[in-house]
Amino acid sequence: MSTRIDDEILRAYLADALPAEELARVEKALRDSSELRARLEDVRQNRGDPGLHTLGAIWRRARLTCPTRQQLGSFLLDALDPELASYIQFHLDVIECPYCQANLADLKSRTTQASPATKDRRNRILRSSQHLLGDEGRS
Ligand SMILES: [Zn+2]
Repeated sequence: MSTRIDDEILRAYLADALPAEELARVEKALRDSSELRARLEDVRQNRGDPGLHTLGAIWRRARLTCPTRQQLGSFLLDALDPELASYIQFHLDVIECPYCQANLADLKSRTTQASPATKDRRNRILRSSQHLLGDEGRS
């Protein structure tokens, strides 16, 4: 079991003062525990720092732990280890990182664009070989 997350850590989390590894651990814990999410909300409100709520601060905090484009690609293909995949899921759904959402949408459109073309090419090859077979049958 890893060290328990106390209010001090939550404050550091909100202040953007955690190292990346610790940040990932806190985010994972937040995802798993609604009790911890409520506590984070308390800490956030007691802290009384208006700067914290700016979009810039949220953006910066989220971007710190963004997966790479390559990881997002593997995520789409379901080729990541479950822990990383669930982290990315959290990053997209809970943090709603606009940068990664855009990146993922872009990757997704590339994948869906690629597959019909591949199918089309396969169909063309199939049709031309059927034609060849037909000719052979007639002669
Ligand atoms: Zn991101």
